[in-house]
Amino acid sequence: MTLADRVHSDHDIAPLEASQHYPDSVDKVLHFSGKGRDIQDFDVFLQQAKSANIQNLLLLTGDKLKEHHHGRDGAPRTRYLESVNAVMAAKQHGGFQIGVAFNPFKYAEAERDAQYLKLHKKIKAGADFIITQLGYDIEALKQAKSFLTHHHYPQKILACVMPLSLERARFMVKHKVAGIVITPHMLKVLENEKLAGFTDRVYLRCALQILICKYLGFAGIHLSACHKPEEQILLESYVEEYRHLELDALELLWNSLWQVKTSKAFMPELPYFSRQPTSSQIIKYQHLHLMHDALFESKIAKGIGKFIFKANFWDKSAAANALLKTEFVSKHGVLGCESCGQCRLGDTLYICPETCPKGLANGPCGGTTLDRCEFGDRECIHSVKARLAKAVEQTQVLKEKLIPTVPIEVRGTSSWNQFVEKLVFGDRSLSFIIHGI
Ligand code: SF4
Repeated sequence: MTLADRVHSDHDIAPLEASQHYPDSVDKVLHFSGKGRDIQDFDVFLQQAKSANIQNLLLLTGDKLKEHHHGRDGAPRTRYLESVNAVMAAKQHGGFQIGVAFNPFKYAEAERDAQYLKLHKKIKAGADFIITQLGYDIEALKQAKSFLTHHHYPQKILACVMPLSLERARFMVKHKVAGIVITPHMLKVLENEKLAGFTDRVYLRCALQILICKYLGFAGIHLSACHKPEEQILLESYVEEYRHLELDALELLWNSLWQVKTSKAFMPELPYFSRQPTSSQIIKYQHLHLMHDALFESKIAKGIGKFIFKANFWDKSAAANALLKTEFVSKHGVLGCESCGQCRLGDTLYICPETCPKGLANGPCGGTTLDRCEFGDRECIHSVKARLAKAVEQTQVLKEKLIPTVPIEVRGTSSWNQFVEKLVFGDRSLSFIIHGI
């Protein structure tokens, strides 16, 4: 059984607490969602999970916290611990089977690229298994499986499936459940079916999807919203009835039940998409890249920096404040800098991670819709980044560079302290520098 983390409300019972209500003999997968959480919260969770003898985790960034604060009205901005960082920490801790989520149901080129780039990172960080987002597009599931095969990734992949009734489909459309695609065609099929009284088809279809996934090489399924014994018995009876069919026959039946005439039955309507970054985005990237190299990477800059920062002058808090203000003023207007204290621009193609409402640096969450952010107020910065990376041939950075999380105590300090650290103190810790200043 899996125990989800704050899906219905922000105040749901914690998965660890809920797990204690079930016998040890039941294998459990505990979800940990990074919404409103910091790396320290996750460390505590890991220790508790270990003591409770939990072995299987599903680590998610999480959808938008219902009580999300933008940080504009004086209340602190809600932070999200990224799944990639949670995977890194769990791997380092050891002793867990680490699961990650993946959303293959993306239909704009840049947002799909961004999802796959992030999946590379999740695997590199230490993911042992992958569970897809809930979705009904078999072609997208095939793509996810062939991605793993193509890259020789040994991780097992499970498909999330759910018996899709008309009521559930309508609920997901009405509430715009993040990252789930229900098309008008699908709604129409379900409406007609309900009118004709063929409600059992909901379970037949789910059984077919399970069998198709098995043929495609999925290691299993993650069954959602099928809690009642009578629902499970009905589903199992359909699995048994159609188990003998080959993949072609299963797909034929699936397509006929969904009345699939074109490959677009499961795709949202696609508006016009820009496939290229704008020339101003490319010029901005090139300009910032040159500046970054000149100011932080060149020998001359390092020499000057070493000389300046060795001075006792920087030991004074007034000087540290001046450094912080200078950094903020020079970067806020152009990049949206929020003084996170650990500048990651060099690894994010100079698109500040703080301009993502969840503050994600390693890539997108699963909640985008056709390049739009889950928050609905902007284009997803990770789509912009993926598009730009292709144009300037930097996709490798977005695929491989695991960007560490920003500890709370570092926020609100100048990230130029890191520059000082590298130049003057070599490998000594950043916290030493911050507290030293
Ligand atoms: S990554 Fe941090 S320091 Fe760099 S621009 Fe963004 S908020 Fe500022």
